[in-house]
Amino acid sequence: MSFLEIKNASKSYLNGGKRSEVLTDINLDIAEGEFVAIVGYSGAGKSTLINFLSGLVKSDTGTVTLEGKPITGPGPDRGLIFQNYSLLPWLTVFENIALAVDEIFHDWSADKRREHIDRYIAMVKLTRARDKKPHELSGGMRQRVSVARTLAMNPRILLMDEPFGALDALTRGDLQQETLQIWEEDKRTVVLITNDPDEAILMADRVIPLTAGPRATLGPSIPITLPR
Ligand code: ADP
Ligand code: ADP
Repeated sequence: MSFLEIKNASKSYLNGGKRSEVLTDINLDIAEGEFVAIVGYSGAGKSTLINFLSGLVKSDTGTVTLEGKPITGPGPDRGLIFQNYSLLPWLTVFENIALAVDEIFHDWSADKRREHIDRYIAMVKLTRARDKKPHELSGGMRQRVSVARTLAMNPRILLMDEPFGALDALTRGDLQQETLQIWEEDKRTVVLITNDPDEAILMADRVIPLTAGPRATLGPSIPITLPR
């Protein structure tokens, strides 16, 4: 049985009274532990596609399943990382992550909770910024908080939608390397959406092109076998 699978999915949107099909005949089969990148132009339908997997968008046709069960909405098994990090401005780094952790893990001791959160803060190199608020951080640091927050919820699958798109090139490079290091430690399943072919090839095991829309569809997979 497939781990994460999209079969014959399509999606159209109504815009100004006109219906246009954004995605057509999308088929995708992802194994557990794989790191897959989907590359395509802005506006091609990448967010729509990854949101089939997050459960935030329902496909008009076909099926979207995790271990054979239909995905019908968001769930704690799938962590999301977006371009805009949506941190709460009145909470510190620690508190922003704690808020997310508390939603998932209810019966932890105060010590276990603190250790867990501090471990993820250290993983993204933010220990010295632990008690700072978002406005005191750079864009790269805020995105690190957002990565740590999602990872600390311990999702089996990480869905990343243009996660580093808003960062300057140097910071983007740092975050790509750090994310890879974290992935190499725990081998979570990752789906990365990007409009940057270099980022896709650098990070993923397998790169899949999404053709330009409308009626965008996935091309054949390109396995990436270069040593990292
Ligand atoms: P990408 O992530 O590749 O930029 P999106 O999936 O965000 O692409 O959008 C693909 C196309 O679908 C765009 O033309 C966008 O304007 C349109 N679209 C996306 N979401 C909606 C929506 N909820 N309603 C109407 N049109 C939408
Ligand atoms: P991206 O940065 O991935 O290209 P967009 O800016 O296209 O994302 O879209 C951001 C959000 O707005 C998505 O949830 C998308 O579904 C929604 N959206 C995009 N275009 C439209 C539209 N024309 N009408 C309504 N919602 C839209």
